[in-house]
Amino acid sequence: MSFVLPNLPYAFDALEPHVDARTMEIHHGKHHAAYVNNLNAAVQGTDLEGKSLEDLFAGVSKLSPAVRNNGGGHWNHSMFWEIMSPNGGGMPSGDLAAAIDRDFGSLDNLKQQFNAAAATRFGSGWAWLSVGGDGKLFVSSTPNQDNPLMDVAEKQGRPIMGLDVWEHAYYLHYQNRRPDYVAAWWNVINWDAVAQRMK
Ligand code: MN
Repeated sequence: MSFVLPNLPYAFDALEPHVDARTMEIHHGKHHAAYVNNLNAAVQGTDLEGKSLEDLFAGVSKLSPAVRNNGGGHWNHSMFWEIMSPNGGGMPSGDLAAAIDRDFGSLDNLKQQFNAAAATRFGSGWAWLSVGGDGKLFVSSTPNQDNPLMDVAEKQGRPIMGLDVWEHAYYLHYQNRRPDYVAAWWNVINWDAVAQRMK
């Protein structure tokens, strides 16, 4: 069984003007596709074949850089497409809103922490909102294609929202202005999808 590139749940231009169509096309069709192909090549014919990414991540410190980087790349991007929407933005509701208020005090505080995590991640990586082992939400960032499911993560947890801050995610439209990309991204966040992931 091989890993498969998932279809985007919307058109390339659906997230305009916040995320431009050309970036989406290259990001999904070239970058994500490459992670899937390289991941399949890395596990094919090994005893890792058929294992879930979550299982691989739990012991990723013992695996090859190819599995770590491309497995992370596949998982992270599959999540990323799902938590964005042309009808995104606004405020979370229900249990998610309550959990954010409980663990951050307010949505503004969460955004502030998350934006800081995204802005200060040196080089390429991701900013995350995750559920920790204690059931509480926390913000973190990881380098490259790592994520909080990996045993190498500084703080481990179950990610419910992640933002790609690799230059390939924003450079065509925002060039060096990563904070502008991060600020605009809140207009496409799919809070319902994030709430589903928290359940
Ligand atoms: Mn990416």
